[in-house]
Amino acid sequence: MSDKLNLLDLNRDEMVRFFEDIEEKPFRAPQVVKWIHQFGVDNFDEMTNISKSLRAKLKLTTEIKGPEIITEQISDDGTIKWALRLEDGQAIETVLIPDGERGTLCISSQVGCLLDCSFCSTAQQGFNRNLSVAEIIGQVWFAVRRLGSIRTTGNRSVTNVVLMGMGEPLLNFDNVVKALDLMLDDFAYGLSKRRVTLSTSGVVPGLEKLADRSDVALALSLHATNNQLRNELVPLNKKYPIEKLFPAVKHYLDSSKASKKVTIEYVMLKGVNDTPAQARELARLLKDMPCKINLIPFNPFPKTRYETSTQKDIDKFGDILMKKGFVVVTRRTRGDDIDAACGQLVGKVADRTKRQERRQRKIDVVELK
Ligand code: SAH
Repeated sequence: MSDKLNLLDLNRDEMVRFFEDIEEKPFRAPQVVKWIHQFGVDNFDEMTNISKSLRAKLKLTTEIKGPEIITEQISDDGTIKWALRLEDGQAIETVLIPDGERGTLCISSQVGCLLDCSFCSTAQQGFNRNLSVAEIIGQVWFAVRRLGSIRTTGNRSVTNVVLMGMGEPLLNFDNVVKALDLMLDDFAYGLSKRRVTLSTSGVVPGLEKLADRSDVALALSLHATNNQLRNELVPLNKKYPIEKLFPAVKHYLDSSKASKKVTIEYVMLKGVNDTPAQARELARLLKDMPCKINLIPFNPFPKTRYETSTQKDIDKFGDILMKKGFVVVTRRTRGDDIDAACGQLVGKVADRTKRQERRQRKIDVVELK
């Protein structure tokens, strides 16, 4: 690995400090941030408003290095999935979902995931490490550059970013918030706070810290109507049960200027959480929560024990909630022909938790009986 400082790792404040440290003027920071993130430049010679001597100085000790493309798959519905290689040879997945004028980029925050949600295929991969700032913002940097060169029909640029790829963003707090800084920075991507969504399975201390540090839109992976069922689907719930989680979410909304409602994500699992009685239970649970509800048809993956709810059951579930006054959107499944849909991102993870191995062993024991 290179020992040069990767400038993709720095938000604007850090860039200012960097230029001060090398005894250059702080105004160089916004200039360089602009070259990197707005113009997608990775070659210092293209930075024409930077003197030749400073460019030479930068080249000596720094670099601009994003992830490398391994594969690019384009779905029938226009969704694009990229597998991206990291410097240590592992891989993550990033997805662009075009929808009319909108282009939503779904990015990863970790290599694999520490959590073990029973319906998510990333969980099967285990966990290796957090992504660096360069690797998180690098996905946006990469996608914008790539779309610039392959744009064919329709609007395919990045207008929205969701942290809904691999990993739990609040368990990689420091790097995620710095990457968020760059997404919102007018000298970088200049996205409005409402167009950047952090999705969490409910890390309560992370939510509390986020309330002090950022103001992006929030999505909560709820998926269940009570602790008992949620413990099973999202095991993190045993540590941060609903009665601790909801006050933290409300606190975030109260302290946020931009996001007054949380998006409640609810994956529809046949016979598990999709009955009319559960819809009513969900309505009761959410009655004091400023929210909109996103029903996500379960996306199957190999060896899963779950099935997708029928369209009829999803409609019925949604209707009950709507009659109770909730805003309900059923997420259209996008890119499933290329395994780019929610919960289908896997990448290449050198698992340090030995999760797959442990599972395998458990299965062996069962089979021996
Ligand atoms: N760890 C974060 C972000 C990653 S998951 C979180 O839990 O929110 C992004 C969304 O996809 C979550 O709502 C997640 O629960 C959902 N998801 C995971 N696996 C899925 C699957 N197989 N089908 C449909 N949605 C899934």
